[in-house]
Amino acid sequence: MHTLWKDDEAAASRDELELRVYTSRLLGRDKSLVLHGGGNTSVKLTEKNVFGEDEQVIYVKGSGWDLGTIEAAGFAPVQLNHLQKLAGLPALSDPEMVNQLVTHQTCASVPIPSVEAILHAILPNKYVDHTHADAIISITNTADGEARIREIYGDTVVVVPYVMPGFDLAKLCAECLATMAGANVIGMVLLNHGIFSFGQSAKESYERMIALVGRAEAYLKRHNAWEFPQAVENAPKGAEVMRSLAKLRFEVSKAAGFPVIVARHADAKSLSFARRSDVEVIAQHGPATPDHVIRTKRLPMLGRDVAAYVEAYRKYFSTHEPQAKERKTMLDPAPRIVLDPELGLCAIGKNPQEANIVADIYDHTIDIILRATALGGYQALSARNLFDVEYWDLEQAKLRKGGKPAQFSGEVALITGAASGIGKACVESLLARGAAVVALDLDSSVTRMKNGASFLGLQCDLTSAAQFKQSLEQAVEQFGGLDMLVLNAGIFPGGCRIDALETEDWLKVMRINLDANLMLMRECHPFLKLAPCGGRVVVIGSKNVHAPGPGAAAYSASKAALNQLARVAALEWGTDNIRINSLHPNAVFDTGLWTEEVLMARARHYGMSVDEYKKNNVLKTEVTSRDVAELAAELCGSLFAKTTGAQIPVDGGNDRVI
Ligand code: ZN
Repeated sequence: MHTLWKDDEAAASRDELELRVYTSRLLGRDKSLVLHGGGNTSVKLTEKNVFGEDEQVIYVKGSGWDLGTIEAAGFAPVQLNHLQKLAGLPALSDPEMVNQLVTHQTCASVPIPSVEAILHAILPNKYVDHTHADAIISITNTADGEARIREIYGDTVVVVPYVMPGFDLAKLCAECLATMAGANVIGMVLLNHGIFSFGQSAKESYERMIALVGRAEAYLKRHNAWEFPQAVENAPKGAEVMRSLAKLRFEVSKAAGFPVIVARHADAKSLSFARRSDVEVIAQHGPATPDHVIRTKRLPMLGRDVAAYVEAYRKYFSTHEPQAKERKTMLDPAPRIVLDPELGLCAIGKNPQEANIVADIYDHTIDIILRATALGGYQALSARNLFDVEYWDLEQAKLRKGGKPAQFSGEVALITGAASGIGKACVESLLARGAAVVALDLDSSVTRMKNGASFLGLQCDLTSAAQFKQSLEQAVEQFGGLDMLVLNAGIFPGGCRIDALETEDWLKVMRINLDANLMLMRECHPFLKLAPCGGRVVVIGSKNVHAPGPGAAAYSASKAALNQLARVAALEWGTDNIRINSLHPNAVFDTGLWTEEVLMARARHYGMSVDEYKKNNVLKTEVTSRDVAELAAELCGSLFAKTTGAQIPVDGGNDRVI
């Protein structure tokens, strides 16, 4: 642990709030200090109010902001004196606490202050930093954690026993500070929770955090509880393993009541942890710090018995719910972490971002568990305490912030020919509807097309079954399965009449437009069958299926054969709850194929302007890639839930087709 403070970077801050932003981000940069929205910081400032009077205001991190990316707008200014007065009340309900925080902000359009705002307010120093540092909770989450903390820090920190975060914690901290704080105190360790540091400047408070956590790290190193040799593990691979993964995803989704992303992590660390002989003991205590419970649930699932996990979760709920202050509704009982000796660690979320957060948290949890185990045994909070945080309305509000899930949230779509034209537009349409998208293309630019957790771009030659199988396995490993398949890739060779058509040219078109799609459908079928909401296939056909043109024998025949293949698939796969429908676009000119010159040449050939040529259909409208892609996406949605084997033109109306 070393300071990331740089004088020249800090000098760019124009005021104390900007310095607060700067050191908050320094904390957020180190995942061993805070993870995904964890931790909070504050600064106390004097500002002029509307009457021109000096007023003490505390800027405290807004709920929902991440320290790593926080901005000045992520801090909520609240009247300091009011918060300090609140701490003197004997009790304060959660809704009233939130009401008091929100009604005593000095600015209306700011986020809701952190639930720890009152605690920040009672600490006397100007700057306050709070993290859930791995090293600290590795030590506090042991049987003799408190004694170890006292041994490490002596009189430099105040030690606070665990209580639920919020008003009760603020009150307890105030009491502990009043009775225990001496001149040497620079921080506060909250057992089973985390650590606070404070100081008169941003640098002092931040560097005290680094120094305090550094001492905990040094203690762990001295006790051989820091790093552990990693056994080299061979992760099982191949189609069979991926099918097991997809089956697990199917069952977890059924238990959750919505489709989930299941991201497999079979690196040496995850796999060796999942395979430990004592995993049933060390991984069944609970999370490292209480606010992880809303992401990971209290316990990981060991192995693949989803029904048993659900049963145990129901029991946990029915045991602890009667003791809650108000009645609670059970959350979905599906696991968020699975530890399995063959699969390794599976992280589960409503979307890939959530699954990444879960994986990150558990990656740190593994370190913490191993370190605490080396100190004599990992001990988490009681199930009762964790239940209270998991079902705390103020924690659940964090998850609700995401709003209503997108149409294809938790689902996975694979698109071929995705680097350009209709395929590229399909990537956009499906991402916009919340799907995780696997984009395949021969063109390597597909790998760089998009950023973000929901996108996986892979270069792939679809005429190679081996290459495709590898891509499919990679996709399933990353997202857990496959729900939607968009068969878009195809070639349109230059015009050639039958009397001059070489067999090799004919076969080439067939290989790409037809044979490759048969292989794709066959290989994807076992996964589509395990799609929690049913599998969906969209075939991008062509007007030529119904209205072929001279000079396009191979293209028209390949698309017609593909069309027939799709119809047979609709018949064969109905009982597997897989729908397959075809779109027949025509004259889509906003693709790489159609340059301005080509368009002008074709238009001239027919004696039309480019605009007339583009709109040469019954509706006199231009058909774009986006039009086709939007319809392809909707075909996968609930509007078409009862439609299979359909063929839909998207061509502005073609008199030969109608
Ligand atoms: Zn905390």
